[in-house]
Amino acid sequence: MLYEREAVGIRGGLVTARAQQRVMRDYGVAAELLESAELRGLLPEVSADVQAAMFCPTDGVADHGATTRAYASAAARLGAQVVEHSPVARIQEAANHSIDVTLSSGERYVAERGVVLATNSGTSAIFESLGLSDPPLWSVYPQAIILKVPRSQFPLTQLVNHNHRVLSVKRIDDDHVMVTGGWLGSSAGTQLEDQIQGNLREAEAVFPLLAGAEVVAVHTDRAETVTIDQLPIIDRIPGLGQTYLATGWSGHGFAIAPAVASLLAEWMDTGHKPQVLEPFQLDRWDGDVGALTDDPSLSSSH
Ligand SMILES: Cc1cc2nc3c(=O)[nH]c(=O)nc-3n(C[C@H](O)[C@H](O)[C@H](O)COP(=O)(O)OP(=O)(O)OC[C@H]3O[C@@H](n4cnc5c(N)ncnc54)[C@H](O)[C@@H]3O)c2cc1C
Repeated sequence: MLYEREAVGIRGGLVTARAQQRVMRDYGVAAELLESAELRGLLPEVSADVQAAMFCPTDGVADHGATTRAYASAAARLGAQVVEHSPVARIQEAANHSIDVTLSSGERYVAERGVVLATNSGTSAIFESLGLSDPPLWSVYPQAIILKVPRSQFPLTQLVNHNHRVLSVKRIDDDHVMVTGGWLGSSAGTQLEDQIQGNLREAEAVFPLLAGAEVVAVHTDRAETVTIDQLPIIDRIPGLGQTYLATGWSGHGFAIAPAVASLLAEWMDTGHKPQVLEPFQLDRWDGDVGALTDDPSLSSSH
C-alpha cells in the first residue's frame, strides 16, 4: 500500500498508517511501514511523489483460473463430481431435511448434508425463485487491463495498491502486468473508454515507466457482487435447512475464499457456526433497532 499524501479526508493518508499497521499486526498480518529510502530499495520504479508504504512480506499473487482449476482437480481426486454449464433452476428442502436441487435440464440432486450457494451475481435470481427478498447487494463488472511490460524492465515482485488512488498493479507473468483497482465496465459488462483511461492515468502517475506501455487486453466481462457495507454474506438461508450462502465479495472473494471454504466446511461438519463468521450474517441490515432502544444504558435523558 503506497502513501502519497499526509492526509486524505478523514480515512486516508500517511497519518492513518500507524493505526492500520497496529490493526493488521493484531490480526497476525506481517506489516512493515517503509519510509522513502527503504521503499525505493524495494520498488525503484515508483514515482517521486510516493512518500511511504505499508509492506506485507507474506502477501502474494495467484492466477485465478489456474487456482480454480487446481481446486476442482483436487476435489475430483477426493471423489467430488464437477458438473459445469448446468444452471440450478430450483432448490427446496425435502421432508427428511435433505435439500433437493433441480437443474434447468431437469436433472435432480439430493443433498443430504447441505448445499453451498457460491453463486455470486446469480444469487439474486435464486433468491427470487425462492420467493425471498433480495439481500442489499448488486453486481458490477470490475475492469482488468493487461499491459505488456517485460520483467527485465519492471520486476514488480509484490502486489501494489494505493492509499487514495483507485489502483492495483501486479505482475502476472514474465511479459505482462495487470492494472486494476476498482475501475468498471458498463452494467452490461462492456468496456468504457473513460474507465480504461482513468485506470491507466493512475498507473502512470504511480509508475511513470508504464506510460505508453502496450495495452494487450482489457477485461470487463466478469460480474462481481457488492454489498452495501462491502463485506460478504456468509450464512444459512432461512427456511432452507442446510443451505448456505457465500456471496457479496465486494472485490475480495479470491483472497479470502480458502479461509471461507474451510470455515463453511467446519460449520457443515460440526453443526456449529464458527464465531469468526458472525459479522457476515444475511440479516445484518434488517433494521432491528428494537434491541438498541430497549437497552436502558442507551436511553436519552433529555
Ligand atoms: C477483474 C477482477 C479483479 C479481481 N481482483 C481480485 C483480487 O485482487 N483479490 C480478490 O480477492 N478478489 C478479486 N476479484 C474478485 C474475485 O475474483 C471474486 O470475488 C471471486 O472470483 C468470486 O468467486 P465466486 O466463486 O464466489 O464467484 P464466481 O467466480 O463469479 O462464480 C460464481 C459461479 O456461480 C455460477 N452460478 C450463478 N448462478 C448459478 C445458478 N443459478 N446455477 C448454477 N450456477 C450458477 C456462475 O456461473 C459462476 O460459475 C476480482 C474480480 C475481478 C472481476
